[in-house]
Amino acid sequence: MGTTLFLGSALAFSITLLVVFFNKKRVKSIENIIFIFAAIVNFAALIIELTLQIMVLRTPVSEFQTSGLIEYWARLYLVIIIMWFTIFTIYTVEISFTHNLKVNTIVFSIIFIIASTLAIVLPIYKYNDGVVIYTYGPAVNVLKILGVLYMLFWLICLFSNFKEIKQKKYYPVIFVTIFLLASSILQIYRPEILLITVVGTLATYIMYFTIENPDLKLINELNIAKDQADKANMAKTEFLSNMSHEIRTPLNAIMGFGSILQEHKDLSDDVKEDVNNIINASDNLLEIVNGILDISKIEANKLEIISSEYEPKKLFDDLVKMSEVKLKSMNKPIEFKCFFDETIPPVLYGDHGRVKQIILNLLTNAIKYTKEGWIDFKISCVNKSNVTRLIISVEDTGIGIKEDKINKLFDKFERLEVEKSTTAEGTGLGLAITKKLVELMNGKIVVQSKFGKGSKFSVSLDQRIVKDKKELEKTDVIEIGNIEFINKKVLIVDDNIVNLKVASRLLEKYKLNITESTSGKDALEKIKNNKYDLILLDDMMPGMSGTETLTEMKKDKEFSTPVIALTANAINGMKEKYLKAGFDDYIPKPIDRIELDNKIKKYLGGN
Ligand code: ADP
Repeated sequence: MGTTLFLGSALAFSITLLVVFFNKKRVKSIENIIFIFAAIVNFAALIIELTLQIMVLRTPVSEFQTSGLIEYWARLYLVIIIMWFTIFTIYTVEISFTHNLKVNTIVFSIIFIIASTLAIVLPIYKYNDGVVIYTYGPAVNVLKILGVLYMLFWLICLFSNFKEIKQKKYYPVIFVTIFLLASSILQIYRPEILLITVVGTLATYIMYFTIENPDLKLINELNIAKDQADKANMAKTEFLSNMSHEIRTPLNAIMGFGSILQEHKDLSDDVKEDVNNIINASDNLLEIVNGILDISKIEANKLEIISSEYEPKKLFDDLVKMSEVKLKSMNKPIEFKCFFDETIPPVLYGDHGRVKQIILNLLTNAIKYTKEGWIDFKISCVNKSNVTRLIISVEDTGIGIKEDKINKLFDKFERLEVEKSTTAEGTGLGLAITKKLVELMNGKIVVQSKFGKGSKFSVSLDQRIVKDKKELEKTDVIEIGNIEFINKKVLIVDDNIVNLKVASRLLEKYKLNITESTSGKDALEKIKNNKYDLILLDDMMPGMSGTETLTEMKKDKEFSTPVIALTANAINGMKEKYLKAGFDDYIPKPIDRIELDNKIKKYLGGN
């Protein structure tokens, strides 16, 4: 009678669970599908066991051995328990190893069919002495053996996923294993006490609360909120990239006219210094604009790594030169040491612009945050078949970083010890960008530092080795403006008058024949009647963009003038975009004098 009550309560639990489950919206996941089967089979097992109990109680002891109905019902009970074992095993395999429900179902269904056929055909004996009632014999043994084997199998699953055992979805497996073991031991001594279905009910309960069953309504609301946040973020990124474009345009004028002024021979020392200050300040401003653009791209997951072949030796030498110029301008008593491993391959394949940016950030920081002593810039490498691991380190004897601040170092806008380093300018974006870039290239960055003593930043980056070395584009710096191209005709197209003026003034010293144009349409008119040697073409223009203008120009098969994109659209990767669009070259704004000089010489026949 006690067992019947026990089963009755389990049945009530089971019904409640099924009602709750089917009344809630659910996601269609493998775990949910398995759960439905487990819950229904468990419910069926409870009904069968309960009716079996009632039948046994109602059958007189004398008729018990001969009752066919009780035997069929007992066999059905065995089959349904085997089915529950099967479903539970499929669940365990699903969460442990594969996510191939079909294959699992087929394999375990075959075992189920064999085991239940045996449970149906093998002999079964019933025992009833009026107090103790149970069945035994080969048919029952099939269930017992299968149960033990499955339990061992679950244990193997648990142990082979030891690390993940803490995950909630393993709770039912742990529960069932422990409780079935305990109830099997109990069965040896008290064969009439059957707890399988009760354990099953509780396991199904635990399953319900542990499988990932997110609230669909909540998910919907979250999705809407996420969409809105994404849209806002996109708007922010677009705003920042527009702003950066807008800021670049006046900056182009400041830097362009600044460098024109710088070249004036008869400037007094005072004016020269003022001009240098203007150029330095605009350099800083440009760096900030680039930083903001980078971080907004990173946040919008739009920053791409654009790889090409490059010569690392040249890149590192450039960085040394830049650092030395910076150190000189800051007048700090710092010794700059460098060492580059001789085994670094001559040509590598990677995003050299970003590699340069990473190292430059570290070098700039070392210079910024060191008053005296030395800075040690080292690059070693480990070559393995076609990949080299560059190990870059920048060590300084600067202000160092407090231990508890080190983990904040790579957060954006985070500046440590600002009050102590008031002379050092910065936005706190450099290291955040550096870290993201390193991660995007699958590299690693670590920092060791002693407060007051100095810091060491180390980066490891894998780059592909290029074995058959092609002739790479020469971009050696040539002395500026020492060649004149008296008969060469250049067309500059830009909708912004000031920008046109900057470009014309920068080109003045080459004594070129310059024509200015303020729109794509006008430029097309001009090339109809004139033959130019070079065209500098802005892209973002109202009416007809530079790219559209170029397409129009190229419709004329005779057209062979080199066209350089001259644009404030200066995000990394733009060069590749413009080359792909058919431009011969690309110069970002603000125009760098040296770069402009190199390109002029390249396309107008200088060295
Ligand atoms: P920024 O230099 O623009 O402030 P960074 O992201 O490059 O931003 O650096 C974040 C902070 O980390 C800096 O403000 C500085 O406090 C600290 N830091 C970076 N490099 C060094 C270094 N070499 N020595 C000491 N402190 C450093």
